[in-house]
Amino acid sequence: MSDLLSLPDIKTIEPPQENETDMMFKVEAVGPPERCPECGFDKLYKYSSRNQLIMDLPIRLKRVGLQLNRRRYKCRECGSTFWERLISVDEKRSMTKRLLKSIQEQSMSKTFVEVAESVGVDEKTIRNVFKDYVALKEREYQFETPKWLGIDEIHIIRRPRLVLTNIERRTIYDIKPNRNKETVIQRLSEISDRTYIEYVTMDMWKPYKDAVNTILPHAKVVVDKFHVVRMAN
Ligand SMILES: [Zn+2]
Repeated sequence: MSDLLSLPDIKTIEPPQENETDMMFKVEAVGPPERCPECGFDKLYKYSSRNQLIMDLPIRLKRVGLQLNRRRYKCRECGSTFWERLISVDEKRSMTKRLLKSIQEQSMSKTFVEVAESVGVDEKTIRNVFKDYVALKEREYQFETPKWLGIDEIHIIRRPRLVLTNIERRTIYDIKPNRNKETVIQRLSEISDRTYIEYVTMDMWKPYKDAVNTILPHAKVVVDKFHVVRMAN
């Protein structure tokens, strides 16, 4: 019989209990760990166990809980003890990694309450998963410091806003509410790996020049011809 859960390292040990809205599976690891994580020795024995509730993706719109009998092992060689590791489980959130991924996606478009109700996790956990996810995305985003930075402005609601761009990738790096010298200096100094920026393209506006000379003295300034022409006009 194929396992309804289809998880690589967890198996169902008896038929699930269910009602109108929820399903509960009794589960355990598919196999024991092969080696001691401390010394690599392969003679281990069961030391203790505990029950742990792990939430998983809903099945036919029913919330799914896994009652996991988690075992602890002891090494015959070095004597260290350890809980079995499961690659499908996110330990921090006590849920399967596939449920975590689904919550990250859903929380972008639904309310935290809606997501919480549909998967059977409290709202606070949903909010924390979302916060972690956004922070991770921001770190990835920050990582893309352009080698060739563009400093420009766009007019939004009749005011010029600072726009930093990645010239090579033709992407926007950041937008700030104004283009004052302090704002430009502040934003440029927040780029921790700014020595990576080799070229800067910008117009002749003095605050930009001052900011770049102060914060990015190593970068070569490539004056934007379009802006020069516009200024001459
Ligand atoms: Zn060992």
